[in-house]
Amino acid sequence: MSSPYPRARLAQARWAQLSVEERVRRISPAVQALADRMDEFAQRIHEENGKPMMEAVTHEIGASISTMRWLLDTAPRILQDRSLSLSVFPNRKARVQRVPWGVVLVIGPWNVPLGIPVSQVIPALLAGNAVVLKPSELTPRSAGILAEILGGCDLPAGLFTLIEGAGDVGAELIAQRPDKLMFTGSVATGREVMAAAARHPIPVTLELGGVDAMIVCEDADLEFTASAAAWGSTFNGGQVCASVERLIVHASIRDRFQSLLVDKLERIDPRSDLGHITAPRQRQIYEAHLADARDRGLEIPTGGRFLGPRQLAPTLVAGPGIEQADVWQQETFGPVVALTEFTDDAHAIALHNSVSSGLTASVFTADVARAERIAGQLRAGLVSINDVGATLYGQPELPWGGVGASGFGRSHGEEGLLDCSWPRVVEQTRVGVFGPKRPWWYPYDHHQQALMAAFGRGLAARAPAQRLGQALRAGRSLAAMLSRRPRL
Ligand code: NDP
Repeated sequence: MSSPYPRARLAQARWAQLSVEERVRRISPAVQALADRMDEFAQRIHEENGKPMMEAVTHEIGASISTMRWLLDTAPRILQDRSLSLSVFPNRKARVQRVPWGVVLVIGPWNVPLGIPVSQVIPALLAGNAVVLKPSELTPRSAGILAEILGGCDLPAGLFTLIEGAGDVGAELIAQRPDKLMFTGSVATGREVMAAAARHPIPVTLELGGVDAMIVCEDADLEFTASAAAWGSTFNGGQVCASVERLIVHASIRDRFQSLLVDKLERIDPRSDLGHITAPRQRQIYEAHLADARDRGLEIPTGGRFLGPRQLAPTLVAGPGIEQADVWQQETFGPVVALTEFTDDAHAIALHNSVSSGLTASVFTADVARAERIAGQLRAGLVSINDVGATLYGQPELPWGGVGASGFGRSHGEEGLLDCSWPRVVEQTRVGVFGPKRPWWYPYDHHQQALMAAFGRGLAARAPAQRLGQALRAGRSLAAMLSRRPRL
């Protein structure tokens, strides 16, 4: 495969010369292009990925429009130079510039084949980078929408390139050494990608999904909460990094909640509501997790059977010992949710934090103060009180990403945009301040050391009298120092 990077680097060198405002102006037509062809694009995603039209319109096109709109409106402010006043040398001036990485490689997933790349490609371009996108081999036509809408923009040739291919193409693109890598996918591939990037090293952002949990307190609106759980665990056929995979329900309402949920899961219409399996290999994961649950003697109050080659019925798994089961510990990435019960808030928090990943979480209760206390102890990148955590993806100002096995780095929000560049500090001072040379330069002597000690103690002192005392000491040491050996 010939490398796309030389051409991308030439385009990037020109692109980076433009102001952020000019980059915004040139990318802006892409938003309207997406809106104008919404139905056609949604249909394409629906056919290729298998998600319902409603989800293609909302989670792919709608989310992409809101992400792009917010980025275009806020990028000039977020990426502008920042002036800093300095605490140690107040007489100096400093500013932090945001410098593009150069060429960013985005390796995309198949579950949200347009929305996820949009949230990484557009900020990377606005920050002054060129981008090479390697979508999943399962969904190249959906990712191709991005190439089409950017194709109508006035961008230097080679600034954005889409390279189709399977995992080996992704690996080759990493070996060819981009300047930054953004990866969304499985923990296993994330590890491989990170190891490959470490050889150069290339900075990486990893979004690796999770086994996200919903905590249901005894005072929650159970009808509302069961609907949230039914939707949150099954939309896009459950193939969502922030899908609700675990339910932690207060023991006193567990039976009522479970029967409401079973009823709702059974009423999901597989023809219009339930997404299809996109990656055929998912079926083996579902079968393995269900076999593990059965081997452990867990109950499957509903679901657990395939409705066709590409659909698993919405499935609930429950019972003692579920916390050790695969459905609890590992991402099923299907319409499967595991349920257990808690007795007090500390127990709920411990159950939540009993897994290695932490992307989103949710707490359902009428007591917001209690929910805030619980949220503050959850190991998760985003916590929603009284809504499904995945909903937060649709709000572009919120930094999106997780901890632990969910990866690191952020897309969305200021953090996501800043992740597309590195900070360069430019500081300026004058020659001749503090005497002819800097007082900490050679030659070292005890007056100089006393000066630095007084300076340090002065910084530590809170009382004005102490500060003044240290300043006088520093002044005396400086005078003694300057009157002795000349500075080097
Ligand atoms: P992968 O992690 O294998 O795929 C994600 C992306 O990485 C795809 O574009 C894939 O290409 C590419 N890729 C695969 N191998 C390499 C490699 N060695 N170097 C560079 N790129 C590579 O996901 P799977 O399709 O195997 O899904 C398995 C599980 O991953 C799911 O069950 C789910 O748990 C999780 N997942 C999480 C997602 C999230 O949103 N965080 C998204 C997708 C999956 P290609 O597809 O062409 O092989």
